[in-house]
Amino acid sequence: MSEFDLIRRYFTRATPGAELGVGDDAALLRVAPGMEMAVSSDMLLAGTHFFADADPFMLGHKSLAVNLSDLAAMGARPRWALLSLALPQPDEAWLQQFSAGFFSLADQHGVELVGGDTTRGPLSLCVTIMGEVPQGAALRRSGAQAGDDIWVSGTLGDAALALAHLQGKVQLTEGEFAACAQRLHRPEPRVALGLVLRGIASSVIDVSDGLLADLGHILECSGVGAELDFAALPVSPVLGGHKSQPLGRHCVLAGGDDYELCFTAPVSQRGAVSAISQQLGLPLTRIGSIVSGTSDILGRSCSVRTEDGSIMNIMESGYDHFA
Ligand code: ADP
Ligand code: MG
Repeated sequence: MSEFDLIRRYFTRATPGAELGVGDDAALLRVAPGMEMAVSSDMLLAGTHFFADADPFMLGHKSLAVNLSDLAAMGARPRWALLSLALPQPDEAWLQQFSAGFFSLADQHGVELVGGDTTRGPLSLCVTIMGEVPQGAALRRSGAQAGDDIWVSGTLGDAALALAHLQGKVQLTEGEFAACAQRLHRPEPRVALGLVLRGIASSVIDVSDGLLADLGHILECSGVGAELDFAALPVSPVLGGHKSQPLGRHCVLAGGDDYELCFTAPVSQRGAVSAISQQLGLPLTRIGSIVSGTSDILGRSCSVRTEDGSIMNIMESGYDHFA
């Protein structure tokens, strides 16, 4: 199978939302009047982000999901994607499953694949996503204000707990592992939430590297600090059984790959946030507050209060490829 057959067979679909899609030297895209384009790119490498023998359908899903999560955190509506692939060899069964996983999530969110690149090499996947947001309405990391509430969607830590199980650091039952692995392999990007947070949230980030690390970016960009209430951090029933142990604590505070949204909003928006939670059928939990001042005596901008009122001694923060 030639490179061009491969592209035609697995990655060429109708793209009615683009002026021009796959097949020429570049795609042609037009954003609606009054909108601006939000663009983001994420790379997944075998060995770093996934196991080389990972289920290709799930990889197709995840490679797009992590990008949709970034647009969700901007409050942008996803529209188009580019897919750049390096493949050790053109394995048709793998490509069939990978593209099925990719397109099933793309279809759910109205995303059209408009181009990419395909080369031979160690398995790696890079998706670039493009979406639309009304001019000036994008949700940024920099808007948090002292006094704002801090919220998080869904639950935290399951993906990291599944990974810990795979790494032999914890022994989950089959049922427990299945529940957590779903979060690791098939994250559900919070696109609908991002859209309705426009005009309500003061800052938003998606939790891809761990709550403390990602909230830390909001704090840094906004020039503020935070106080979190550990007991309030929302977890699944499975993680609940581990939350008080060091590993569970690490998963909740510093585990990556959850792809929930962490956001801040003025106290006056509590009713609106609750209404959104109802409307979307998605738990939104208040986990702390933004405070003025950017760091304590140890240089930490975020403190975590335990149930007995003491401040947790936090060593971990999140995943950093270069740390
Ligand atoms: P060029 O050599 O001009 O870069 P390519 O041969 O790489 O063109 O690509 C031909 C067309 O196929 C282009 O429209 C490109 O965007 C598209 N394409 C290549 N790889 C992929 C892929 N993995 N998914 C979707 N479109 C792709
Ligand atoms: Mg090319």
